[in-house]
Amino acid sequence: MDHATVLKTLGFTEAELTGGSLTVTSPIDGAEVACIAETPAADMADVIAKSQAAFKEWRSVPAPRRGELVRLLGEELRASKDALGALVTLEAGKITSEGLGEVQEMIDICDFAVGQSRQLYGLTIASERPGHKMSETWHPMGPCGVISAFNFPVAVWSWNTALALICGNPVIWKPSEKTPLTAMACQKILGRALARFGDDAPADLHQLVIGGADIGEAIVDSKDVPIISATGSTRMGQIVAPKVASRFGRSILELGGNNAMIVAPSADLDMAIRGIVFSAVGTAGQRCTTLRRLIVHKSIKADLVEKLAAAYASLPIGDPRIDGTLIGPLVGQGALDAMQAALASAKSEGGIVHGGAPVTEGVPGGAYATPALVEMPGQTETVKTETFVPILYVMEYDTLEEAIHLQNDVPQGLSSCIFTLNVREAETFLSAVGSDCGIANVNIGPSGAEIGGAFGGEKETGGGRESGSDAWKGYMRRQTSTVNYSAELPLAQGVKFDV
Ligand code: NAD
Repeated sequence: MDHATVLKTLGFTEAELTGGSLTVTSPIDGAEVACIAETPAADMADVIAKSQAAFKEWRSVPAPRRGELVRLLGEELRASKDALGALVTLEAGKITSEGLGEVQEMIDICDFAVGQSRQLYGLTIASERPGHKMSETWHPMGPCGVISAFNFPVAVWSWNTALALICGNPVIWKPSEKTPLTAMACQKILGRALARFGDDAPADLHQLVIGGADIGEAIVDSKDVPIISATGSTRMGQIVAPKVASRFGRSILELGGNNAMIVAPSADLDMAIRGIVFSAVGTAGQRCTTLRRLIVHKSIKADLVEKLAAAYASLPIGDPRIDGTLIGPLVGQGALDAMQAALASAKSEGGIVHGGAPVTEGVPGGAYATPALVEMPGQTETVKTETFVPILYVMEYDTLEEAIHLQNDVPQGLSSCIFTLNVREAETFLSAVGSDCGIANVNIGPSGAEIGGAFGGEKETGGGRESGSDAWKGYMRRQTSTVNYSAELPLAQGVKFDV
């Protein structure tokens, strides 16, 4: 589908796509597809006030009823799956199946959140005092600011929004300035769900604000936005986290990764190679969970590198809309330049580079490159840095202890994995002395998580958790209550204070 048809299918009007100050280009061919209006910074106070007003109503709507809105959102997403997936491809450059996969992830989290809306469970706790009942309940927090990155332009929004809504919180979304059109499309889709839902959803329950860091900062700085969920680079998190902390807000940070795979001597190499290739070059190396470091036992390294180089050589690169393409474009020329700079610096540190060259033939424009494999003599500064492109650094190890040390010896802590058929190695990797990441897998690559588990990572990845498991608790406040139904007033710990 050409760009104009994709936008038309989603109901964009000429007025929405022209006359604004934010130019949107498609990474597929570098074409300018829209000039859209940005939210004036001066409007942000009003946006936040409206969100606070929406909160005062939404918090009192019963949670299962709030879940009904998310159920309708899931239905609308199912109906728009192909069109929204095509827009993800247009705006983020993902191959068709990955664009559709991202929308499927949105549908999955909606289903999850609907069930969760009837399970915002608290606790009943044994009281030490006679005639007393102690309990713990969960309450809505207030407006949730969602700041999202370009590479998962819609899934990250849905992870946050589906949970924030069932938990009783309105949302203010500031998408990446590189991907505002997918955000506008989501706002339209949610609008259809809201229209079907009925009157008990307040106006401004969900607001979209368009712009750069200054617009993001307005919600980051406001004490009236108690939750900030920010996804993006560690550099961004280093600015956002102290600001939210200084006003005692709650942040959910999903920042950069530098994900590794250990390949042990017993590994099923054919399976490992498939896992490596998908994790390292899928989404053109632009996933937070992309495999960036391969830590291979020295006895199999030469064999593995040879097989990988052969697999890399046959990967179809080009227009992500064409069936069979596996590697689409980088997000822009800046990413291609960063890739070339990282490869040059790896070389200067003793790396042997295979691939990584820009591709200009057989592509429709845009910034394309062959994925790079780089044999490194050790874990240098370049290897420890997340460069958001398809570069896979390969290092060798001798003992499992050494491999785990290499895996953990980077500033980031998002995703990790080991390929082994040895249960001692697998369990050691998953134990307290193993991987220090938020995600640790066995015989599966580090990317492509399911929504049922809590998603996020440690250290410079920011410590946030989103999506499944008990991540919903990040969007609610906990209240401990003690009720005295006796005729006495005993104090805890046996304290006497008779007056
Ligand atoms: P980025 O940091 O450039 O931008 C992310 C978002 O932050 C954008 O919306 C941007 O406008 C906003 N922003 C930037 N500075 C800000 C500030 N001072 N105040 C408020 N908002 C600000 O990231 P990107 O290039 O869009 O995305 C790639 C990065 O995101 C990679 O590092 C990747 O690992 C990371 N990422 C992490 C996860 C995760 O779940 N851990 C998921 C996706 C992407």
